[in-house]
Amino acid sequence: MREKMKQAVMTAPKKIEIEQVCIPSPEKGEVLIHIKQIGICGSDVHVYHGLHPYVSYPIVQGHETSGEVVAVGEGVTIFKSGDKVTPEPQVFCGKCYPCKHGLYNICNDLKVIGFQQNGSACDYFVYPADRLVKLPESMSYEQGAMIEPLAVAVRAVKKAGDLTGKDVLVMGAGPIGNLVAQTAIGIGAASVMITDTNGFRLVKASECGIDHVVNPLVEDLGEKLKEVFGKEKKADIIFECTGAQTGLEAVIKNARKGTDIIIVAVYGHAPTVDMALVNEAELRLIGTARYNIDDFQTAIDLVTNEMVKLSPLITDSFDFVDYIKAYKKIENSPESTMKVMIKVN
Ligand SMILES: [Zn+2]
Ligand SMILES: [Zn+2]
Repeated sequence: MREKMKQAVMTAPKKIEIEQVCIPSPEKGEVLIHIKQIGICGSDVHVYHGLHPYVSYPIVQGHETSGEVVAVGEGVTIFKSGDKVTPEPQVFCGKCYPCKHGLYNICNDLKVIGFQQNGSACDYFVYPADRLVKLPESMSYEQGAMIEPLAVAVRAVKKAGDLTGKDVLVMGAGPIGNLVAQTAIGIGAASVMITDTNGFRLVKASECGIDHVVNPLVEDLGEKLKEVFGKEKKADIIFECTGAQTGLEAVIKNARKGTDIIIVAVYGHAPTVDMALVNEAELRLIGTARYNIDDFQTAIDLVTNEMVKLSPLITDSFDFVDYIKAYKKIENSPESTMKVMIKVN
């Protein structure tokens, strides 16, 4: 009889059942990972609330993950037992137009583990070796599970082109906004201003070394931009990470004419944009979706070179059997929550 393991199954919105299932074995080209840490992000919370448009139940969550390799399938030579790893969680077709043109992150048939395919919320997880990223020995498993959200920030910043010497505005200081700001500084931006209506998140931003923090409920963002970056100049580039109508409106209103706006946020409710203002000011709205595997490597380098701090973002940690408590904390105390981790093993 094969050995059993724990698996957390979300059977319906707000319902997580811990089940006993057989430990899988790695097939050809696959790796068996002993899962250590899982991060919970905003998209997971949408699934928890039954608000994610592309997820059906039951689903095993877990896409921000770290673990240790415990066995490899036939033909796998790049990983060995004991390696620290994180999966790049996108499963793509490889045949559609975006896939054939290097943009598999926007594959026409994209599946992300934890959403359209079972994720890593279990003790042991099997994953293809060529979709797995090796973590440095020096990195903690908590940090390792945060490489995925950092890769989101890395791609967003790469979309902005060369930021050397630029003054950057980041709207929204949640985990992604914070990581976008840190990445921008890390790769050479002159100065970064970050905004949020949540004071706790601004304190975290300061702890991470972000130059200017603004609470638009307390200070006028437009005035602050002129004061800090220059009356006419304001920000050279803006990253929209709020996902809120008001955030997007503030971006369009305060952008200097002719600038680029990177849309990083995922919008729960479709926002309305005054396209006449976008048109007249020659603003460029640029989308960015997830990452590719190279962005994971850049993310690891940023952490290893101490250009990005991850630890200040982790506000909570729950044991695997208390998975549901993690969501309750996020629900009940958003004012003191940033990144919540699940300790699996
Ligand atoms: Zn995520
Ligand atoms: Zn495809």
